[in-house]
Amino acid sequence: MRRVDYLNKKKRKNKGWIVASAIAVLVLGGGAAWTGAHDWDLKESAVSLKGVLGGGTEKSPADQSPVPPQSAEEDQAPASGGGEQPVPEEKDDASDALAGIGEYDDDRPLPSEPTYIDGVLLANKKYPLPADFAPGEDPEARAAFDEMAAAAKLDGFELAPFSTFRTFERQKELYDQYVARDGVEAADRYSARPGYSEHQTGLTFDIGEANQEQHWARNSFGDTEAGKWLFANAHRFGFILRYPEGKEDITGYMHESWHYRYVGKELAAKIHSENLTLEEYLLGGQKQKQRHEPEPADPAK
Ligand SMILES: [Zn+2]
Repeated sequence: MRRVDYLNKKKRKNKGWIVASAIAVLVLGGGAAWTGAHDWDLKESAVSLKGVLGGGTEKSPADQSPVPPQSAEEDQAPASGGGEQPVPEEKDDASDALAGIGEYDDDRPLPSEPTYIDGVLLANKKYPLPADFAPGEDPEARAAFDEMAAAAKLDGFELAPFSTFRTFERQKELYDQYVARDGVEAADRYSARPGYSEHQTGLTFDIGEANQEQHWARNSFGDTEAGKWLFANAHRFGFILRYPEGKEDITGYMHESWHYRYVGKELAAKIHSENLTLEEYLLGGQKQKQRHEPEPADPAK
């Protein structure tokens, strides 16, 4: 077994820390994902979320509970050999870029500029958006959605985008309501803070099937034929499933089978086929180097 101190947050380069973070994020961040990612019937979502988080609820539908958090550990490569080998420099860079990526940076104010990496807009708990960033729904993303919806229709599914662009002000309004009602600590468990929602980019579409509202913003959507179609085909139109299963520690959000992000066809195809997240692609060194295999140990040392 690995000798990992799950509580030692100072070991920022230790993968065990990422695992520990993942667990914390699952508990604390899962709530934000639930409602932070969409504004469709937020009140109901908050109620369901309380059920999810164990707060108990009397009106949570039975099929509403999201997929239970998976062990983030299975995604982590086991530590090599058990010896305390020094980590190669290049790997360090990638690890550093992704370390703590799924968590809020409490001490930092919102930036004055949005973060673009190689021309791709990134918005997550580590890279928030300026308060006045309000591009509206992206026309290219909408056109891509329309193209995708037309293709889906040919296969018998009517896709419905139930939440797309959302302003900072709208998010603040929602968040403040929850804080007033439940306090900051509780509100942070089920609502994204203003400036941190990817919907503020205008590139995000929460997608469901028309007339199947019972699956909207619920992971049961992923089990429907429409949800499966979307997952298998979205990349052909430039969309990626933004919060895939098992990547919670990196994205900062629980799996959301309905939340898709437009990144363009080329990037979407790559991210889909390699089972990456946007964070891994942009920050994890996946762009430049395909795979960095550890060098054989130098016999001279
Ligand atoms: Zn969403």
